Amino acid sequence: MARIIFWFKRDLRIEDNRGLQAAAAASSEIIPVFVFDRRLLLDLDGPETRTGFLVASLAELDRKLREKGSRLYCFYHDPEKIFERLIAELHPEAVYTNRSYSWSGERTQKKVERLCQQKGVDFRDFNDSLLVPPEKIEARKVYTSFFRLWLSALSSEEVSIAMTPESLKTPLLKLPSLSDSIKELPHKINRYWEPDYALKRLKEYDFKRYDRDRHRLDLDGTSRLSVALRFGLVSVRQVFRQAIKKLPTDSQFVKELAWREFWYHIRHHFPLTENLEFQEKRRGLRWLNRDEDIRAVEEARTGYPLVDAAIRQLKQEGWMHNRARLIVASFLTKDLLIDWRTGEKLFRKYLLDYDEVVNTGNWQWSASVGADPRPLRIFNPQLQAEKYDPQCRYIKKYLPELKKFSCRQIHALELPGYHQPIVDHRSALIRLRQVYLSKA
Ligand SMILES: Cc1cc2nc3c(=O)[nH]c(=O)nc-3n(C[C@H](O)[C@H](O)[C@H](O)COP(=O)(O)OP(=O)(O)OC[C@H]3O[C@@H](n4cnc5c(N)ncnc54)[C@H](O)[C@@H]3O)c2cc1C
Repeated sequence: MARIIFWFKRDLRIEDNRGLQAAAAASSEIIPVFVFDRRLLLDLDGPETRTGFLVASLAELDRKLREKGSRLYCFYHDPEKIFERLIAELHPEAVYTNRSYSWSGERTQKKVERLCQQKGVDFRDFNDSLLVPPEKIEARKVYTSFFRLWLSALSSEEVSIAMTPESLKTPLLKLPSLSDSIKELPHKINRYWEPDYALKRLKEYDFKRYDRDRHRLDLDGTSRLSVALRFGLVSVRQVFRQAIKKLPTDSQFVKELAWREFWYHIRHHFPLTENLEFQEKRRGLRWLNRDEDIRAVEEARTGYPLVDAAIRQLKQEGWMHNRARLIVASFLTKDLLIDWRTGEKLFRKYLLDYDEVVNTGNWQWSASVGADPRPLRIFNPQLQAEKYDPQCRYIKKYLPELKKFSCRQIHALELPGYHQPIVDHRSALIRLRQVYLSKA
């Protein structure tokens, strides 16, 4: 082929990038492109750290492309408008990209695909971001039966690593570079995360500690690879292969990778769950949605130190430990009866690893309205703190104002001068049962 535009999206790397490898094999001239989708960025009303991280990741990608003789062209607008211009100006023979599986990503990709069809340009997409593409597994509503099918669908082809192109030929064109495009973008750099953390963490993380430490809030026990996976700084195949050097394929860590794919499976087979509860019987719950409660959570002054510490972690680092996410989500939906969609938005605003499919799936699950239902599971924030932050190291790290109290006082909520709990956990449970059971 003469000329191929390669459209980078959530796959910001040249190693083990299936679409890029296919483009490099099919053509001697590749034009790498990234589009800051104006609509998605406008939707982000939180701090600009996610955009900052994205910009830093793109700079790293551009550097690596240049080492191969190429360069990244960047745009800021609606992707279909940009592709209309690129097709008219550059006359490519094809557009290659890795497939989008999220709701918004798929909608955008379809528009570009349609445009290519109209203009007679070949459009090819590849499964890169999931180990097993969702259409390969028949619909399952429960994780355990999905996991069995997923594991048996994992062939050596699914986990094979794509070759890194040795060189990429890209013409010097009068198109905007990364630095031209970011002039229009506010973007703060998040000092907790650098794009090069991804490969280092992948190499250095001790997967063997996962089972033992993954629930502990006060330890660095989980992989922290979610941010890398979200932006495609490493591939899920690289993560999987690294993990199974140390762990069996049905280990807890691999099960977590499968949870990520389970939510994409649900999204594929039950697409209405973008806004609607998976469980029909739990649609239309009578949420309280009190503004003052929502504000107290977002401002980390619920009076429950573990919940407040988790929100501080989220806002400071753009990341939150999984156990803390579970506790916050349970507190918000169960103790305060706030609609899970509000929680989903709160996390969307701050999480660096924000993934609309995974976040929606987890919020629905935490609110007991989603797929793979458990009996109405409720986390007691005090008991959770005792179990998973036994010395209050996590709480004191994010709430230094509580350093003067003993850990016993913190767990017992004997904290003169600190915020009063905005809700009494026990009475909240009675209220919760009435609301949920009236819908069961
Ligand atoms: C309410 C709520 C919202 C969440 N929102 C997101 C989100 O927007 N983006 C996101 O990536 N994760 C989300 N998670 C899942 C999970 O909390 C994070 O993936 C995890 O904390 C990331 O840390 P880690 O990389 O150290 O995970 P590890 O424990 O090391 O797990 C390894 C990988 O497995 C995947 N994984 C782990 N747990 C889950 C899970 N419950 N669901 C799906 N994938 C999982 C992630 O890709 C993770 O990087 C959410 C969980 C909850 C309870």
